[in-house]
Amino acid sequence: MTVKIKKKAAETGLRRIVEEMSGVDLSLCYQCKKCTSGCPVAKLSQSPPSEIVRRLQLGAGDELLENEHIWLCLTCETCYSRCPMQINIAAVMDALRALALARNASLPKGNAPAFNRAFLNTVKTYGRSYDLSAIAQYKLGGGNLIQDIGKFPAMLKKGKIAVLPPSGADKQTVKQIFNKAQQTKGSGR
Ligand code: SF4
Ligand code: SF4
Repeated sequence: MTVKIKKKAAETGLRRIVEEMSGVDLSLCYQCKKCTSGCPVAKLSQSPPSEIVRRLQLGAGDELLENEHIWLCLTCETCYSRCPMQINIAAVMDALRALALARNASLPKGNAPAFNRAFLNTVKTYGRSYDLSAIAQYKLGGGNLIQDIGKFPAMLKKGKIAVLPPSGADKQTVKQIFNKAQQTKGSGR
């Protein structure tokens, strides 16, 4: 059966606000799927990046904010580097995550949203990522503070984790970015 999609219907849903937030023109995507074939988490997801873009093109609404892929996305930008149309899907995922939080969408089961929150909290506090603090907040949030603690000495010895917080970050600018994001959220965008 052939499904005809009217232009008016395709302009509804989340598409416009996602385009505005991400600076991406979703109409450029012609579904070559190069993004999906390079995405490291596509196989874990029921909706790989090309499908998320397609669904936005077809007028997907808030139900897309409950999609697990937006929380599985690592922001690695492999999709962006492979896309022949230079569509920044990582920015699209950022926009979808921000909208999911702003609109209180049901978050998927699993730890990705909690990890995301812990990571952003440390960036907000220290101006840069600080693994030790992010891990502590993440584990504390799940009531498992001492889980994996046995791995800590080996990671320390191999220089995989720093004890001291990062220095030299422009905390003031980072704080302004977070404040601006908070205002955007408060304005309902
Ligand atoms: S690589 Fe680009 S054009 Fe191809 S499906 Fe992905 S977003 Fe669309
Ligand atoms: S940025 Fe996200 S969607 Fe794109 S390739 Fe990386 S994990 Fe996949």
